[in-house]
Amino acid sequence: MKTNQHVTVVGAGLAGCTLARILAESGIAVTVHESREHIGGNCHDSRCRQTGVMIHRYGPHIFHTDRPEVYAFLERFTQFTDYRHRVRTVANGQVWPLPVNMLTLNQFWGTALSPQQARERLDTLRAPTQEAPEHLEAQALQLMGVDLYQLFFKGYTQKQWGRAATSLPASILRRLPFRFNYDDRYFQQARQGIPDKGYTQMALRMLEHPLITLRLNSPVTPLQMQDAGRKSHLFWTGPLDSFFDYEAGRLPYRTLDFEEFTAQGDFQGCAVMNYSDEDVPWTRITEHKHFMPDEHHEQTVCWREFSREAQPEDIPYYPVQQTLDDPLLKHYLKRAEETENVTFIGRLATFRYQDMDAVIWDAMQVAQRFIAGEKLTFPD
Ligand code: UDP
Repeated sequence: MKTNQHVTVVGAGLAGCTLARILAESGIAVTVHESREHIGGNCHDSRCRQTGVMIHRYGPHIFHTDRPEVYAFLERFTQFTDYRHRVRTVANGQVWPLPVNMLTLNQFWGTALSPQQARERLDTLRAPTQEAPEHLEAQALQLMGVDLYQLFFKGYTQKQWGRAATSLPASILRRLPFRFNYDDRYFQQARQGIPDKGYTQMALRMLEHPLITLRLNSPVTPLQMQDAGRKSHLFWTGPLDSFFDYEAGRLPYRTLDFEEFTAQGDFQGCAVMNYSDEDVPWTRITEHKHFMPDEHHEQTVCWREFSREAQPEDIPYYPVQQTLDDPLLKHYLKRAEETENVTFIGRLATFRYQDMDAVIWDAMQVAQRFIAGEKLTFPD
């Protein structure tokens, strides 16, 4: 089926690949422009030439979802391993399980409390409940009290975001569960795993369609974008502010630096070890081979991860959402609403701290609605 319709997608990350695939399958020709030399966006992975270990080139990515439609869609392009993410954190000279669960609590208090006893003890330590805690710190104090917050969250959050927790939204902390059982999986979603041949391979298969043309190393200028928007519909997955050539200033993003080292055998015994003390400059160490427990490698490749404010030349990773009332963000959201024939989608273009499955879900909805004749500026 071919419709003679043509659209442009900018960005070959998960949003771009999902859009391109669904649109192409409905008969629409799609050109995907990717400024980098590879596909997969920030979940791009590739093997280390020297050791053969699969490396998450932009930091650890673990797929998890409660949306069966998203999982079913991806399963057309990959199988998922049954990897379950379990994170430990080094705090004050000890290793602790995260997210906070009964083992963390009993280790922290030096007790053998039951879940009910732990709840009761925590109730005496928590800050009084507010209806909607206005920032991350208030959320933490309400959830766990000051001591747990200071040990596991305060320093890490400062390093990760470069700001006081009082200036960050409570929603960031709500990403993590807090459990009164011994479940130490980082995610609780029904479906979890890592593509068995990697994210890049999965993205490649998504783009393998006769109506999809991929152009790598193909940055598009604002002028070209406006032109593309005039001629046909444009799906923009790059940073929101860059679409408008930063006319009102730059939205804040965090970027990451990685320091690699290799060792023999096993360095830390798990894929991700967080470091919550503020005097340790890195936030976490990723030991990549643990993402593929069925593979055997003599050597191990580890990445120390450092977070800092993104400069113009850096790759943006995390949008720093302070409040939706931020005048700069409001400016760009309004500009986007006024722009015809362009859909802004994905973590960077919507300036939302989204997980991979949420991005794919948005792209699926947007693509279906576009096929049905509806042109959205943003996903719902
Ligand atoms: N966080 C923390 N200590 C940790 C892990 C997480 O304080 O050991 C806080 C921190 O503010 C972080 C947020 O919880 O930004 C969300 O963590 P998540 O693991 O979801 O971050 P991501 O994997 O997306 O970097």
